[in-house]
Amino acid sequence: MKKAKVFAGIDIGGTNTAWGITDISGKIISKSSFKTRSQNDFSVFSSELSSTILKEVEKLGVELAGVGIGAPNANYYTGNIEQAANLQWEGSLPLRTLMEEKFKTKVTVTNDANAAALGEMLFGSARGMKNFIMLTLGTGVGSGIVCDGKLLYGHTGFAGELGHVIMVAGGRECGCGREGCLETYSSAVGIVRTTSQLLAEMRAESSMRKLPPSELSSRIIAQNAEKGDPVALEAFNFTAEMLAIAITNAVVFSSPEAIILSGGLARAGKLLTVPLEKHINDYIMPVFRGSFRVIPTGLPESDAAILGSAALAISETGKLD
Ligand SMILES: [Zn+2]
Repeated sequence: MKKAKVFAGIDIGGTNTAWGITDISGKIISKSSFKTRSQNDFSVFSSELSSTILKEVEKLGVELAGVGIGAPNANYYTGNIEQAANLQWEGSLPLRTLMEEKFKTKVTVTNDANAAALGEMLFGSARGMKNFIMLTLGTGVGSGIVCDGKLLYGHTGFAGELGHVIMVAGGRECGCGREGCLETYSSAVGIVRTTSQLLAEMRAESSMRKLPPSELSSRIIAQNAEKGDPVALEAFNFTAEMLAIAITNAVVFSSPEAIILSGGLARAGKLLTVPLEKHINDYIMPVFRGSFRVIPTGLPESDAAILGSAALAISETGKLD
């Protein structure tokens, strides 16, 4: 009997590496995760990861038709991870080459935000869309831009880094080595920086003043905003305004049908989206007014990374016989 064809989706993150085996419709058949830092040698890490997945494929009695891997700073063209600041391995890591040797099937590599965008396109909120922008508002800001049904990779393979568009020349220091990038304002870390600044500048009462600075988090700020805390509400307003400016700039560039939001800060829901819609309305060029929607991710957070990487494998491997 012919074996059922499956795909492996792997997400290599700074803390955890998650993998899953899916069918072509994105149904997860098996999944697991482990600590990325468990292995200091990248080639040993790669071979342990691939052998774990291959054992599972054999156990399930299925055939692996393709592998997709999302990782920070992973380059679609070269297949390498290039100088990822939040991974423990330095330099250029030949991820695709190492994995193709082990898997003996097509391996496709991209950065985690691009994989997330493909996951939305195949299985989530962007099903049926050909033009959209995915923004992941986590510790940083990740983005994947889909134009005319294809992920935008650009000349170098690094296109679609909206987290690092400069919002304020000479603004806040960013992890990329420059200043004033979007992710220093409109991320989970950015809203904490904003709140600390507002607590120093505003005279309003706020229960957040009692907290040690190290305990301030985007979740605590959201909880306070829910209770009507004026500092927390202003922090959300400012965060949303910066995001609205970045979004309206991106809209004039690529005219998307939707902006899809995911990540920890997006979980604040209306606290973020109500001021965001207002500021978008203020900043948008009239010809684009009402031309796009801002919508939440359509994927469960626990599986989004695996589904994104599996979507990469599925979209590259094409139709199955
Ligand atoms: Zn930056």
